[in-house]
Amino acid sequence: MSKYIFITGGVVSSVGKGVSVASLGRILKSRGIAVSGQKLDPYLNVDPGTMSPYQHGEVFVTKDGAETDLDLGHYERFIGVDLTQACNVTSGQVYTTVVEQERRGDYLGGTIQVVPHVTNEIKRRIREVAEVSGAEVMLVEVGGTVGDIEGQPFLEAIRQMRKDEGRDNVLYIHVTFLPHIAATDELKTKPTQHSVNELRRIGIQPDIILCRSDKEVPESIREKIALFCDVDKEAVISLVTSETIYEVPLLLEEAGLGDIVVRHLGLRSQKSDLEDWREMVARLKTPKEAVTIGLIGKYVDLRDAYYSVREALCHAALAHNREVKIEWLDAEELDGTADDRLGHIQGIVVPGGFGCRGVEGMIRAARFARERQVPYLGLCLGMQTMIIEFGRHIFGTDSVNSTEFDTDSTYPVIDLSLSQHGVEQKGGTMRLGTYPCHLVSGTRAAESYGSDVAYERHRHRYEFNNRFRPPLEEAGLVASGVSPDGRLVEITELREHPWMVACQFHPEFKSRPDSPHPLFLGFLGAAKETLVEGAQTILPLN
Ligand code: GLN
Repeated sequence: MSKYIFITGGVVSSVGKGVSVASLGRILKSRGIAVSGQKLDPYLNVDPGTMSPYQHGEVFVTKDGAETDLDLGHYERFIGVDLTQACNVTSGQVYTTVVEQERRGDYLGGTIQVVPHVTNEIKRRIREVAEVSGAEVMLVEVGGTVGDIEGQPFLEAIRQMRKDEGRDNVLYIHVTFLPHIAATDELKTKPTQHSVNELRRIGIQPDIILCRSDKEVPESIREKIALFCDVDKEAVISLVTSETIYEVPLLLEEAGLGDIVVRHLGLRSQKSDLEDWREMVARLKTPKEAVTIGLIGKYVDLRDAYYSVREALCHAALAHNREVKIEWLDAEELDGTADDRLGHIQGIVVPGGFGCRGVEGMIRAARFARERQVPYLGLCLGMQTMIIEFGRHIFGTDSVNSTEFDTDSTYPVIDLSLSQHGVEQKGGTMRLGTYPCHLVSGTRAAESYGSDVAYERHRHRYEFNNRFRPPLEEAGLVASGVSPDGRLVEITELREHPWMVACQFHPEFKSRPDSPHPLFLGFLGAAKETLVEGAQTILPLN
């Protein structure tokens, strides 16, 4: 039987609740305890798949093809587990299920209410993940902050869980923020007191309070919180903003979190072993020579939109004993001045994306990479822009495009796969999740992977159009990764280039700090060797 740790947030959002949950997962794992994670998101969308990155940051894709919250990325990277669709529950999913059951007549004419029908469905989904994953401890994070209207059914459900599962099997952790007042150089506890009061009003008494702050939290402040919030002083744990998020498990374990959790839940725990992790963090924090990577995207003012890409670059750089310096370049601003903007860059990444905004800038970056022989890593849309650019070069016309951006293109080198034609609906119409990819020996892709087959996560509608394969392959584009039946091109690279490789999938979702992704490793390896001196002039696109 699983035990449950429920994590709520107070005061403000974006205080690193997801990283705290992921860190606790790592701590428990390092003590030999099997854990799994789940995120409960109170919004009414069925999944974040169709939500704007401005609203939601990155959409993280699980191996079974669910489009989920980026916190699941933290859980996977820190805990080293592969999560599934069921690990991200939204109000939209819960209400859809309940309403479908009602329409089917499952409730036999009864009145459908938030309590018990909606809360029962939430609890069913929590228990289901516990059972399927076989976790000894389920970490369940409730999104948003306590006090949000839409979060109430989730809080009510987790409140009931303590009664259902037994007091010794459930633990509540509340993550808050202590604002710092510069004038008096003080950390304030009042917002924390209020948010704990709000939690208690619903019937949840937190067992542990994690206080995020930008300053060291003095003992007296912890005592005050313990007194007002009725929590043991040692269970008021401070979490000061750290240099790298990967340090958080070490800080929390040092502050005693692991011991408190193990004691509260009566878990059989080995001695904590975070040695490898500690060594990794020490290497991360050691100053190293930098590799400058240009990331050409359309949400560059919003780093969360490319969270996993940034992390994957950082993991691979660490393996090469380098620091990655990412220059975030707005694709829309990359016009004729690409030269000045890219001249000093050692490697170019074009990440995934939807819609035509910024695409011409990404194509320009691909051209720069090809002509200057600068290493290039294309991720999903970044593979499509590489093919469009190469197509324009070979066919000598700007009419080469993806039908996503130009439905009348005379050279639609990227197009919907046949089965996709006629699809009108936006949600749930993509190639999603893990597909095998056969690597063609002798290519850079195969060399990076060091194997014949890879399993990678997808999230896209468009594909390389096979009609244009023969002329482009003849001209030097190599299909270095293909689906088992050979009909879908999964990786392309340029024959006449030191390292210009792009994939139709999203390798960034599989990179972990302690096991970087082969393609990112290959890319960083090439980038670190790239010497950039004096920009040349780039020819205008014909
Ligand atoms: N917009 C492209 C497609 O749908 C690429 C998607 C992506 O980069 N994730 O195929």
